[in-house]
Amino acid sequence: MKKLLLCFTFMCIHCLSQAQSSPKIAIAIHGGAGTIKKENMTAQQEQAYKTVLQEALKTGYKILKQGGSSLDAVEATIHVMEVSPLFNAGKGAVFTHDGKNELDAAIMDGKTRNAGAVAGISTVKSPISAARAVMEKSEHVMMVGKGAEQFAKEQGLEIVDPSYFYTQKRYDQLQEIIHTEKQQLDHSGSQGHIPAQFPDQKFGTVGAVALDEDGNLAAATSTGGMTNKRYGRVGDVPIIGAGTYADNNTCAVSATGHGEYFIRSVVAYDIAALMKYKGMSLKEAASEVVKHKLVDFGGDGGVIAIDRQGNIAMPFNTSGMYRASMDINGKMYVGIYQSK
Ligand code: ASP
Repeated sequence: MKKLLLCFTFMCIHCLSQAQSSPKIAIAIHGGAGTIKKENMTAQQEQAYKTVLQEALKTGYKILKQGGSSLDAVEATIHVMEVSPLFNAGKGAVFTHDGKNELDAAIMDGKTRNAGAVAGISTVKSPISAARAVMEKSEHVMMVGKGAEQFAKEQGLEIVDPSYFYTQKRYDQLQEIIHTEKQQLDHSGSQGHIPAQFPDQKFGTVGAVALDEDGNLAAATSTGGMTNKRYGRVGDVPIIGAGTYADNNTCAVSATGHGEYFIRSVVAYDIAALMKYKGMSLKEAASEVVKHKLVDFGGDGGVIAIDRQGNIAMPFNTSGMYRASMDINGKMYVGIYQSK
């Protein structure tokens, strides 16, 4: 009996130490926020989004599970969404006013706070890989336009014809917006006035944040920006601290929404700063910025965020945000609309 008890105690201690030493891994992703309402979606459309979200999530989680880095996980996750025409990133990116696709992306390593970003590129198949190359293969943080494309080519990244990014759905969206804009201009009688606001839309940017078994955080975001953008407009995504940020001391954040507001609110860094200087939890900080500060400011959108304990927050202030997560217990969540 005594022997049995001893054996049992040993087993319990063994299990406990195993549980304690088993490293925490977790990942969260988004596929854009905006006016996404159940009544405007068919069951098939819903399923199509969920399928790609799950595929992307599982791709990143598998890498983490095999002991891979959070950087590799977020990059691979974004690849899945960049090749899907459903999202406003890579293939499926929205069009500029001139009928082009100009892509932005950023990646950040929470361990070193190294970061890489590209903006306004039209020929690199995977903008997130271009951003990672900037981070790892250059001494710079951000490259734009032709220079960024040249650099990506020299790094051996896959180069495509700009027409690769064309999708009829996005092109039709541009035509619709240009038509509405023209009607508004004709109506107001003003000449050459450029509306200050982008019309109500879905922000289909994609993003991923992850925690790996070494306790390192990473964030990545990739986008086509906003439909009908002009004059080389760049949004929040490639601006480190606005749309993308990672620091092991606080959190990793990837944002989606009306970029101009996210830049002016320095959204991703603000969440990290609230944790660092005010001692807020991840959930409190993310919710304070997205549901209060941004709302008061007039900025639509949301974020995904993760901290070193593997806590995940995915607040948004729009009717929907495509999102998914796998928590430290391996529990999967996939959502589109506001949960009641
Ligand atoms: N934040 C992106 C931008 O302003 C848009 C989006 O989230 O879809 O460029």
